[in-house]
Amino acid sequence: MRLDEYFLTELKSRNPIEETVNRYVSVKRAGRNPKALCPFHNEKTPSFTLYPENGSFYCFGCGVGGDVISFTMRMENLDYMEAVRLLAERSGMTMPEVGVDDSQTKLRRRIYEINRESARFFHSYLMSPQGKVGYEYMKGRQITDATIRRFGLGYAPDSWDKLTNHLRSKGYHNDELLAAGVASAAREGNRVFDRFRNRMVFPLIDLRGNVIAFSCRKIDPEDKGGKYVNTSDTPVYKKSHNIFALNLAKKSGENRLILCEGSMDVVMLHQAGFHNAVAAWGTALTAEQARLLHNYTQEIILTLDADEAGQKATDRAIKLLSDEGLDVKVVQIPNGKDPDEFIKSHGKDGAVRFRALLDGAGSDTEYRLYKATRHQNHNTNEGRTAALQSAAAVLGTLTSPIEREVYAGKLAEQYHVSKDAILAEAKRTYDKQQKQRREQQERQITAKPNTDPVNPQRPANTRAANAEEGLIGVLLRNPDFIAAVRKELAPEEFVTDFNRKIYEVLVQRQQEGRGIDVTLFGGEFTPEELSRIVHIQVRGSERANTMDECRACISIIKEEKQKISPADSEQMTDEELRRYMQTLREQKTRGTNQ
Ligand SMILES: [Zn+2]
Repeated sequence: MRLDEYFLTELKSRNPIEETVNRYVSVKRAGRNPKALCPFHNEKTPSFTLYPENGSFYCFGCGVGGDVISFTMRMENLDYMEAVRLLAERSGMTMPEVGVDDSQTKLRRRIYEINRESARFFHSYLMSPQGKVGYEYMKGRQITDATIRRFGLGYAPDSWDKLTNHLRSKGYHNDELLAAGVASAAREGNRVFDRFRNRMVFPLIDLRGNVIAFSCRKIDPEDKGGKYVNTSDTPVYKKSHNIFALNLAKKSGENRLILCEGSMDVVMLHQAGFHNAVAAWGTALTAEQARLLHNYTQEIILTLDADEAGQKATDRAIKLLSDEGLDVKVVQIPNGKDPDEFIKSHGKDGAVRFRALLDGAGSDTEYRLYKATRHQNHNTNEGRTAALQSAAAVLGTLTSPIEREVYAGKLAEQYHVSKDAILAEAKRTYDKQQKQRREQQERQITAKPNTDPVNPQRPANTRAANAEEGLIGVLLRNPDFIAAVRKELAPEEFVTDFNRKIYEVLVQRQQEGRGIDVTLFGGEFTPEELSRIVHIQVRGSERANTMDECRACISIIKEEKQKISPADSEQMTDEELRRYMQTLREQKTRGTNQ
């Protein structure tokens, strides 16, 4: 996968890092390097730093870094070629199509087409006489034709092959249908069959208007399958990264989003005029979904079910959403109804009453206090004591002393006890939690040096790795040193493979007279690897950037290589030994050639 470098350079200059980042998070100029609140981790003071001089970024909080392409990959959840394509479209450039190995991109495009074609098929089947079962089911749930069109709802026929036959007649192959997740493979032979049968279909449409997945609800109580059958992860869809109806909700103009449990709730709420309703498919909300929601709103109202699974999901969601920095409120629907049942049970007034519930939604702290105390018998002293202790424990989890103070005051009034007693009780919980948190942090810090997913050999070879990175850092900033350094240090002399790979790329590019720029070799490294390279580059700015400094690094690298190479050959693993012998052979060949 190699793109024309002239094209990449042009792409980069037309999509300045500052402007691109500013589309997602607000960038503040502060001295030479603009900063922003990091979109990849939750923080209150900006450590996400931009380097307009070379078009890169680095977050000193979470260690994510890269260039405008890897930034776009991460923000939009795209692969390399798709991110390049998006940036090209945005800046009015045409993608060069020649000499590009983009089989993955092609497959993804085919999957988008298959999904769109399937959505059309399900929808027109629903509206045809044959789809009467599905249509009557929806009418039974009072879903209007306008709502059916708004969501592109459909009906998957009670058949093993209607959809797959239709898609094959349009020229799609079995393996593509399997990759899209609309078909399943038969146990024997190469046959495939329709994955969704006799179900109501909710298509998930992403923020760019692509159909990326389906959630299919059973309509026949005799159906032995689960209530919902959803698309599993595919090359265009990650369950944990998407939110149903966010494409519609983001246009609602409301400054808060209502997070429901199921697609049916969302559809019914939209029909009742709540265009800001969304759902995460499945009960467990993820951190990625919380972050996605945060891109569009500051306030979330939760309306998850009152049953035990729903309560657990609510607790988990509150924690995730608050950790993400969102304001969370919880709607208590009377009598444990779901939003749809509640609205319908109040007839004409349903929508007005539901809005009143939303406006009166309590903060997550109120909800947790309510939950902590509701099972206690408030008529006995024991019950009241137990309730207060649980309530104080909830207050102990609040990090803001003002918030603790406010709720302690409310509880004091409610239970006729002194506020100080409640605060003292709360502080016990708070201190205990702080201690646990500190211990956990310490464990993490001491555990960290043992693993490094990007450069696995780093922890065992820190001195060598530091020198390697020091050298690479200087070379990235001073490509004119590469020719001289290359004469003194062969790539084989590097101790860690990851750093060797960077060095090889630098040397090769220099020999071919090509530019040294992270954007130009982005296609050869994963976004995680690119983060590390930018970190090495950023750290290079702390150095003197002289040839002497390079020599100092080179001698450490050679010294460390000596330590692990010849003398200890008995302790080498087979793989290391093989590589060492290979190095010797290569050195010999080079010697005779020169
Ligand atoms: Zn960060």
